[in-house]
Parts: sequence; structure tokens; C-alpha cells
Amino acid sequence: MKEYEGTKSPCPASDSLFICPVCHSALIRYDTGYRCAQGHNFDRAAAGYTHLLPANRMHSRTPGDDRGMAAARNRFLSGGYYAPLAGSLAALFTEYAPQRPVFVDSGCGEGYYTAEIAGALRRAGLEPRAAGIDISKSCLRFAAKRDHGVEFAVASAYDLPFAAQTADLLLSCFSPLAFGEFRRVLKPDGVLFCVLPGARHLWELKQAVYETPYLNDEQPPACEGFRPLDLVSVEGTVLLDSAEVIQDLFAMTPYFWKTPAAGRERLSALDRLPVTISFRIHLFRPV
Ligand SMILES: [Zn+2]
Repeated sequence: MKEYEGTKSPCPASDSLFICPVCHSALIRYDTGYRCAQGHNFDRAAAGYTHLLPANRMHSRTPGDDRGMAAARNRFLSGGYYAPLAGSLAALFTEYAPQRPVFVDSGCGEGYYTAEIAGALRRAGLEPRAAGIDISKSCLRFAAKRDHGVEFAVASAYDLPFAAQTADLLLSCFSPLAFGEFRRVLKPDGVLFCVLPGARHLWELKQAVYETPYLNDEQPPACEGFRPLDLVSVEGTVLLDSAEVIQDLFAMTPYFWKTPAAGRERLSALDRLPVTISFRIHLFRPV
């Protein structure tokens, strides 16, 4: 966000929300990366994110979305097709934020929602500190460009690089639901926001690629350590107005990996598709 001057601080080092993935002590942020008191160093990539995933936890050389998929996701979300969800999240986060909220986005992807929420919190006169993690460095390349006031790191939702009781607000949007880690990282009066697909989300896309599409299951997630606080539905229809946009959205979905050739061919013949969007934002408090 242009109005945010946080990264131009004259201070040579500053506190970070991240902890050291090796020894779990606090990390100090420098111009070029992070360092802990034990001397573990983590360089910031030129693209602006930092790698905090220990090598022995990487199950492949480039886990998560590859470059092409990250670019498709970035193009699609930048087109504003999911703006109704971003707007609802921004309003909810602002409603539940204290004056100086710590906001963590677990599985932030290419940072669209992270940046939209952080920007909304600042515009509301609040002073957020924000961090996003994702397993995909291809996605984080885009995320770090979206908002220089947010810290971004390669890390796993199942081993979040944050100290216990750090976050006031924690988002998991179409991302792994690591409730144990979410419970550890949230403050006792914090709020967890989990975004899941509604029953008819992308129904017309599924009709195009499958002979017999099924509705999504709307069963609330089993969330040990939390109690439900609210459930907000976001519904609408968006017009996918070119073959490229349809393919970009398709590449973001789990159907991309399991659609037979005939379904792919039917979809690739389309250059317009009105499609239902349906999101369910589950809000939880720790118990
Ligand atoms: Zn360390």
C-alpha cells in the first residue's frame, strides 16, 4: 500500500512477528533478512519474502503452487472477481480488530486477501502488524509485491513460525485447517476466520467439466479448541468474460487435477461463463 511507510523506517533493525524455525526464539528484522539471538540467519529473497521452512520439512524442491498456477491465481484475483469475499473479510476483520491488531494469514497464497485486509485495517485508523505464510514461494513472489508493510515467509500451516498467543486475528482462506497451530498462535480473546466453499460455489464450472457434478459439503469443520462465534455467507454471480479468465479460475480449483480430457475440452471451448460464487466465513473463538 503506497500510503504505508512502514518499510522505510530509519531504524536499522526492528521486531518481527516471526520466530526462528530452528530454535524458536524471536527474530529481528534487518534490511536483508532476519536473525535470532542464537545467530541463525535467514536472508530475504530479492522478491521480498523469506524462507523459514526447515529443509527437512520440505517434501519436494518446490512445494505448493508452481509458477504457472501462481500466476494464474494472481491474474484472476487481481481481476476483482472475488472482491465480494475480500470486502466482507475486510469489514469483519475491522469489526473485530483491537487498535493495534496482529493479523496472521495462514496459507496466504499470492496475498490478495492479506493485502486487502491489511489495507482496510489501516484505512480504519488502526495500526496493524501483519504476516502471511504459504508453502509456495511462487505465490509469495506476488504476495510480497502486494503490500510492503506485511511480512511474508515460506512456512507450513502445521508449523507456524509464530510464538504462542501472538495473533488477534487469524485467517485461513481455502487453506489447510491446522486447528492445533491456530489455537497455539491465537491470543485467548483472538478470532479465527476460516473461509470454505458454499454448496453451489463454482457450480456452472463444475457443470461444464463433469457429467455429474456434486454440491460441496457445507458441514462445519471439526475444530477442537474453538467455539463457533458467527457464520457469514457471501453469495453472488460473476461473469467470466474470456477463455483466459475461465482457464485461470479452473487452474485455481481442485478440479484442475482430476478432470478427464472430455471435461477439459468442453471447458476450453467456452469464452463466457456466468458462475456462482458462494463462500462461508466461519468465525471461531478459542475456548
Ligand atoms: Zn534461532
